[in-house]
Amino acid sequence: MTKSIFFCSKCKAYTLNDKTCPICEGRVVSPQPARFSIEKEKKYSIYRRKLLKEEMEN
Ligand SMILES: [Zn+2]
Repeated sequence: MTKSIFFCSKCKAYTLNDKTCPICEGRVVSPQPARFSIEKEKKYSIYRRKLLKEEMEN
């Protein structure tokens, strides 16, 4: 049961509909390109690890 979430490129509404926006019938797109998401997550986990380390040292 995995559903992808899309959002409308026109009105920015989130939808599970992978073809057209239920609100304005505009084209829906995937919220994040995979590559961007991975890079962002990597950056975030480094930051989180740093915070965790600082928390332990205090
Ligand atoms: Zn729309």
